[in-house]
Amino acid sequence: MSPSLSRLILSVVFLASVGLVLFLTAMFSFEVLHLRDPEAATLMLMTSATYLIMGWLGIWRGAVKWTPWRGTAVVVSVGVSLLVAVLPGALVQIVMDTTAAMFVTACSWALLWLASTAVIWRETKTERIERLKLLGINAVICPNCGYNLTGMTTTTCPECGGQYTLDQLYAQLTKVDTQVDQL
Ligand SMILES: [Zn+2]
Repeated sequence: MSPSLSRLILSVVFLASVGLVLFLTAMFSFEVLHLRDPEAATLMLMTSATYLIMGWLGIWRGAVKWTPWRGTAVVVSVGVSLLVAVLPGALVQIVMDTTAAMFVTACSWALLWLASTAVIWRETKTERIERLKLLGINAVICPNCGYNLTGMTTTTCPECGGQYTLDQLYAQLTKVDTQVDQL
């Protein structure tokens, strides 16, 4: 099994475990600390959010090509996601109570932040070319999206649907070699 597939399975199990952490923190808040809302909800959500961030970074850290830009963007996205997530929370506040609004905000934040990491961590075309070159692959790359077309029996890119002639792909191959040499 490839490390990526292993990480995907781990991610599914991990995301399911966030619900368990939420439940256990709720038990602890109400039964041991005897907290009431919204203090209990705050503790539950803060604990679960910390668990989510640490676990997610733990699983995917090794698969990401870290640059100063990516490191900063991941930190900033925590705050930006929260700002956006306040909107659905505010709508719920109108018809329900503060605790319900907090949970909607927290769930929206989690979804937004997880989605933002997928965008921020995605490798650029140049990084993909560099990685393939490091692997010693003389790759035929899609001129539009950078997908590796090596070994394909058609000249249609399965990633973006782009259609090319052999001439165009050959021209791209030459271009890739030049680009890689410039790195
Ligand atoms: Zn493509």
